[in-house]
Amino acid sequence: MSIHLNKTEQKISRELAKLKRKSGSHSPSFSTLKWLFPKLNIKLDCCFLSNPYATDLFLKFFDKDIIKGGKFRSLIEHYPSQNRAVSARVTRFFGVPYQYLFIGNGSTEIIQAIFHNFIGKKVLVPIPTFSPYLEFVKHSTAIHHQLEKINNYLLKPQKFLSDVHKHKPDAVVLINPNNPDGGYLKLSEVKDLLIGLKNIETVILDASFIDFAEKNPARTLRTLFKLVKTHPNLIVLKSLSKDLGIAGLRVGVAAMDPQRIDGLLANGYLWNISGLAEYVLDLQNDPHFRRQYEQSRRLIVKERDAFYRQLAKIKQIRVYPSKANFFLVELTDGTTAQDFMTRLLTTYGIYTRPCGDKVGLSGEFVRIASSRRAENDYVVNSIKKAFKNA
Ligand SMILES: *Cc1c(COP(=O)(O)O)cnc(C)c1O
Repeated sequence: MSIHLNKTEQKISRELAKLKRKSGSHSPSFSTLKWLFPKLNIKLDCCFLSNPYATDLFLKFFDKDIIKGGKFRSLIEHYPSQNRAVSARVTRFFGVPYQYLFIGNGSTEIIQAIFHNFIGKKVLVPIPTFSPYLEFVKHSTAIHHQLEKINNYLLKPQKFLSDVHKHKPDAVVLINPNNPDGGYLKLSEVKDLLIGLKNIETVILDASFIDFAEKNPARTLRTLFKLVKTHPNLIVLKSLSKDLGIAGLRVGVAAMDPQRIDGLLANGYLWNISGLAEYVLDLQNDPHFRRQYEQSRRLIVKERDAFYRQLAKIKQIRVYPSKANFFLVELTDGTTAQDFMTRLLTTYGIYTRPCGDKVGLSGEFVRIASSRRAENDYVVNSIKKAFKNA
């Protein structure tokens, strides 16, 4: 029997739906929910995509270097370094000269900068997608390339290229691994795709989740960033929010043709990132940090894979294969995504993301973030109980 809500839950569900509409295409934040529903014991934020082990690690280094190292006052009292100066310090890590690097206050700022400056009249966006790619179109039109359910929403290069030939867009967007499904194309497939896209003015490749997908993600990212030198139409960007577990510090990086960066810097972005974000980037040069980060990364990937195997055993849902740190889950027993999310929230304190607002996804879908082992186990057991006590 599918999940049906009682009267109290229905009331909460309506309030949640109202709140969601007010939050646009993003979900209301965990703290907003806790504040609005103080009676619910909300424990676990599975909307939020992160690596909590990396957050622990960051705090350890921050305490040692900045707090105990006596640098916090200076960090907040002074202006941070300018964009180019920060880029210059991370060229080795990112594998391209500083002229090719642009640092953003979160990669969302980079996406906004690209969309408002470079994408021409028509941009082709595979859907479902990370919603800013549909929302930041200003003087342009977003054309949808529907990713297909029969392919688990994984992008098929030939189909994509035939849509490119049909619509002749000025720009295209590729997110790899994609959000919300985690579908992933190998580096060789991406390279082939870029050949087919060589006449497109701007190709945006968002590699924000690559750390969850590759064995040596830093090396793969360098390879992708280097492609910018031979493909002046390519812009590769990456958020550091999810893999490093520091979404609150707002750091993103992009590699693109130096002329584009000159254009952006002439219009602003001088001191766009904070001293804290600057510290995050400097940390990437610290071999001790990198070594320990690598351990945290492997652990979170291992737990993601274990989470998948457990979720896949639950017969009322279908879980899509993902190379990111979250899963797209389809409810296949007649339960609606809204009822499922409400039940998990009210009874188990787990906040999941219903995907009813995602353009290009039809059906009952939620996105569930993978976290530490204990938390993933709690989610699996709660979902099983939710169906059992439907
Ligand atoms: C979360 C996300 C971003 C934005 O992250 P920032 O915190 O702004 O760096 C960009 N792209 C994708 C695919 C994302 O999921």
